[in-house]
Amino acid sequence: MKSIISFLVLFLTINNVESKDALSPRIANYTMHITLDTENKMLNAETTLNWKNPSSTDTVKTLQFHLYYNAFRNTESTFNKERADGNSFMGKIDVKSDPWGWSEIIEMQDVAGNILTDKMKYIQPDDDNEDDRTVLEITLAEAVLPGQSTTVNFKWKAKIPNKAARTGYNKDYYFFAQWFPKVGVYEPAGMRYAEKGAWNCHQYHSRGEYYADFGVYDVYLKVPENFVIGSSGILKNKEKAGDFTVWNFYVEDVIDFAWAASPHFKIAETKWKNVDIKLLYYPEKENFVERYFTNITNAFAYMDEFVGEYPYPTFTIIDAPIHGIFSGAMEYPTLMTCISASFLPKGLKFTEALTAHEFIHQYFMQMVATHEVEEPWMDEGFTTYYEMRVMDEFEGRHTSAVDFLGVKMGSSEFNRAEYLSEDNPKIAEGNRYSWKYKHGGYGTIAYNKTAMWLKTLEGLVSTKVMDTIMQTYFDRWKFKHPKGQDFIDVVNEIVPQFYNDKYGNDMNWFFDQVLYGSDVCDYKLASISVNEVVPKAGIYNINEPIFIPEESNAKQFVSKVVVNRIEGLKLPVDIKVFFDDGSSVMEFWNGKARSVDFKYTDTKKVVAAYIDPEHKLDLEVNFLNNSYSIEHQHIGVRKYVAQFISLLQQIMQVITVFI
Ligand SMILES: [Zn+2]
Repeated sequence: MKSIISFLVLFLTINNVESKDALSPRIANYTMHITLDTENKMLNAETTLNWKNPSSTDTVKTLQFHLYYNAFRNTESTFNKERADGNSFMGKIDVKSDPWGWSEIIEMQDVAGNILTDKMKYIQPDDDNEDDRTVLEITLAEAVLPGQSTTVNFKWKAKIPNKAARTGYNKDYYFFAQWFPKVGVYEPAGMRYAEKGAWNCHQYHSRGEYYADFGVYDVYLKVPENFVIGSSGILKNKEKAGDFTVWNFYVEDVIDFAWAASPHFKIAETKWKNVDIKLLYYPEKENFVERYFTNITNAFAYMDEFVGEYPYPTFTIIDAPIHGIFSGAMEYPTLMTCISASFLPKGLKFTEALTAHEFIHQYFMQMVATHEVEEPWMDEGFTTYYEMRVMDEFEGRHTSAVDFLGVKMGSSEFNRAEYLSEDNPKIAEGNRYSWKYKHGGYGTIAYNKTAMWLKTLEGLVSTKVMDTIMQTYFDRWKFKHPKGQDFIDVVNEIVPQFYNDKYGNDMNWFFDQVLYGSDVCDYKLASISVNEVVPKAGIYNINEPIFIPEESNAKQFVSKVVVNRIEGLKLPVDIKVFFDDGSSVMEFWNGKARSVDFKYTDTKKVVAAYIDPEHKLDLEVNFLNNSYSIEHQHIGVRKYVAQFISLLQQIMQVITVFI
């Protein structure tokens, strides 16, 4: 055990985290010394955690830690039980492959020297599964007063699993995500959904990600000397220690820390403004370096222009080797993992899409640190929405996902196709906890549908207003933990500034349906009829002769366009109506009734009509019934319809290839 003197040195170092330049509240600050034992697949470690009580009123008597690696301890963990139940992106456990992993705190003491090791117990706040050891509660010897900090030092060990969810080893490739005992988030009353101050520290579930406080990480990684490391943060120092090298990484104002190690990594470097960008890849992927760098610098530029600044000095991409595919594609502060294959043709842009996606997570869930488990739509949906925007901007609207062997598909089209591939697109509302999408929908609702309703919102309010919404939201909530209503509040504040009451006093009607509801959107152009106007004739006054109108060459017609709302979702919708003289008119309907008609009495006749001609409603599930034309189609309408039919054919083709 270390003497108190050496503890104090450590504590003084770590207490130094309060800088006036801090971007975040710096609640959870770690100094970690880690040794990677590649022979036994173990981590031997020591952590000093400086934790600040964020409450101005509560005295906090316990700490709660995530011990994520215990999810892989045996078949009885909540993670593995859910996985066995099929509620996971992973298949069944291969017990022969050494999939087991664990982590344990061996010794813990506080700054005053109080031993806390015997004051620890595993708790199961989500499901009372006593076999689950992914949350550890420690009763402190000295409670933490409001606004004050505590520091604890602990030794811990971890067994590294083989190819677990997002983490572990395979051959000599290692990826460490959710790998260290990590303190939960103490939420004072009024923060997010907390009615009274309490720890928010969920068990590790097989579906769903993470939630953590901001802090500073100073991490010393001791690895065999032939290993190369890619990590969150900047490399401050590298020092030889016998047959090992100690790499020291440091990063401020982040919610997590991840790293990868392998003796085979090559490193390529580039820059975007002042950000040093590194790519760690296996030699056979050399041909991907340029693709990565073009794509990542595009994504940097786009997010900087349309959302806000990336404030960190580094960004690292780990291109996982094929045998390391378990680790990608994922996002961690200032680091992401990705997947590529050297034979992947340029026209199949999955690596590009993943790179954009995982980078965008730096904004939505890293800086705007939403709760990925309780409100996955707030990170995955937002990220997917910007992935579509970035990809469409740089790779072409109809070619940004696939442009290969004559098959073309845009990123937003691909996203729609994924949503439409769901057997039941009404399977769940959009605001569920991640592990509560038990019968499906986590991907299609939290990711795809959220992105579609964000695009629909953009369609309704315009890209410019959407950008104002997102910039305001980002600026207001970066380095904080917003909940869903906080985003809705921003929308409700901005939209009336531009549209007065065009969409009502607020946009709650929109979120009640698209987020809190499960209905889908389908408008149908039901019919067009044209009838000649019967001129006024007959007996109007019995004392007067029968009235017969004069013959007129200019016949009048009543044209009637009928639009139906087929599904439950009600959205305002434009309808473009075309006449036989080539003219057209745009109608606006609030979309609420089950059916509506538009009538025109004129010498010209309606020949065709088209719902949502500007494609504002990305949520619309069936484009095929959006148009209607009577005989002798108007050329423009025929073009629209043809375009859509061809688009749908492409979507169907791509679905068959990739699903
Ligand atoms: Zn994601």
